Amino acid sequence: MSGRILIVDDLATNRIILKVKLNAACYETSQAPDGTTALRMARDDQPKLILLDMVLPDISGIEVCRRLRADPATQHIPIVIITASGDREARLRALEAGANEFLTKPLNDVILLARIRSLLRAHETEAELRLRSETWGGLELAEAEPGFAMPGHVGLIAADPAIAMGWRTALAPHVAERLSILSSTAALTDLPGVPAPDLYLIGADLGTQGAALRLVADLRSRLPSRHAAIALVLTEADPDSAAIALDVGANDLLTLPLDPQETALRIALHIDRKRRADQLRRSVNQGLRLAITDPLTGLYNRRYALAHLDRIARRARETGRRFAVMLLDLDRFKSVNDTYGHAAGDAVLETVAARLRDNLRPTDMVARIGGEEFLVALPEATLGTARIAAERLCRVVGEVPVPLPDGQGTVAVTISVGLALGPDLDPGPDAADDTGRAVLARADAALLAAKSDGRNQVTIASAA
Ligand code: GH3
Ligand code: MG
Ligand code: MG
Repeated sequence: MSGRILIVDDLATNRIILKVKLNAACYETSQAPDGTTALRMARDDQPKLILLDMVLPDISGIEVCRRLRADPATQHIPIVIITASGDREARLRALEAGANEFLTKPLNDVILLARIRSLLRAHETEAELRLRSETWGGLELAEAEPGFAMPGHVGLIAADPAIAMGWRTALAPHVAERLSILSSTAALTDLPGVPAPDLYLIGADLGTQGAALRLVADLRSRLPSRHAAIALVLTEADPDSAAIALDVGANDLLTLPLDPQETALRIALHIDRKRRADQLRRSVNQGLRLAITDPLTGLYNRRYALAHLDRIARRARETGRRFAVMLLDLDRFKSVNDTYGHAAGDAVLETVAARLRDNLRPTDMVARIGGEEFLVALPEATLGTARIAAERLCRVVGEVPVPLPDGQGTVAVTISVGLALGPDLDPGPDAADDTGRAVLARADAALLAAKSDGRNQVTIASAA
């Protein structure tokens, strides 16, 4: 049943009318005749959206809405309240209870469906983010961040700055967010270090026809404003352009004259939703970063390094250029641990990692692939340049003793390096997919030779 639209109405005829409209637009539906059933179905079936009648025989639509929002199992489901009366008080209470939208009967089909599309899009994006974030255990990471909320930032864009100033004056007493007046041009200009507004309130009558819609589409497609909320202020109820506005990326529609209290409630809801999505995005990114990073040194980890090596090898096959792989291993590192302790050993690993990283080009990859073993890949290298790079790394690790923590002085550390060039010249017919690994194996053999030849040196693998 998950993925359906739940229609809640005590009158069977109303439910059927909605069901027919939604089925015609290819949505599957389910139905509930009262609030209690609706709450149970919302929890058990996880509908993707709920159309909720305001007046129900047992619990009011507003109360159902409030309970859905209070339950972690249902709080993310978009809710559209539908009512026969356009009563302002009811509207405000519905928004306060957490409804995403409030539509008055008779319903305009074009608007209803555009609303549903827009809410589902936002909801699916958020659901996808939540899923990925949970995959990485990322929610916990993000929630560990300090919870204080800075006031949000609302950009007001109207045909005339005087109109935007009027909006600001009317909204200021009701809104905690910072309200700033912008031109369309300013809204599309990125100022370095200045974050884009969290929400844009845009007058639909900006200059030429279609200007406001183009601005909405532009803001949606640009990186700094892509995730902002956008509310369009319509001059008159024009269902077609309203639906287009939602389809090009507006999250909300308001009509003139602006009701300051209602607008403030909507702004608060959108900013709240945007904050949640931002936090999820941060935790997904953080999770992704952690999944490819070695926590001790901040270098790439083994998983990333091997995948990247395969990419480099594939690319080298395409371009016909050579690449270099180095395996670097600390010499007699066990004795550092034995003499100074494991914590000192860790500090040495961190310093060596930093020396390696600081002495490579940004396009080179350096990873920690084992306890005291590092991998460096140089895309587009010759034997000459790779050998110079390897000898430089050997030198910068060995020439200055590494400081130890807790006043333990310093320790001299050296590395041995095995260097191999790929792709293999005659890899054989089946080798296309493991060229990277084959080169790695030759680098490993070269490393062994460097060790047995006395350490603190670079050994070059013989050609395959
Ligand atoms: P060789 O020159 O032959 O490489 O000698 P080695 O002592 O470096 O090599 P061996 O493989 O015998 O020992 C590696 C040591 O690296 C053993 C282990 O204690 C240490 N080591 C591995 N991972 C870590 C780590 O994350 N932190 C610390 N402090 N030590 C580690
Ligand atoms: Mg070692
Ligand atoms: Mg080792």
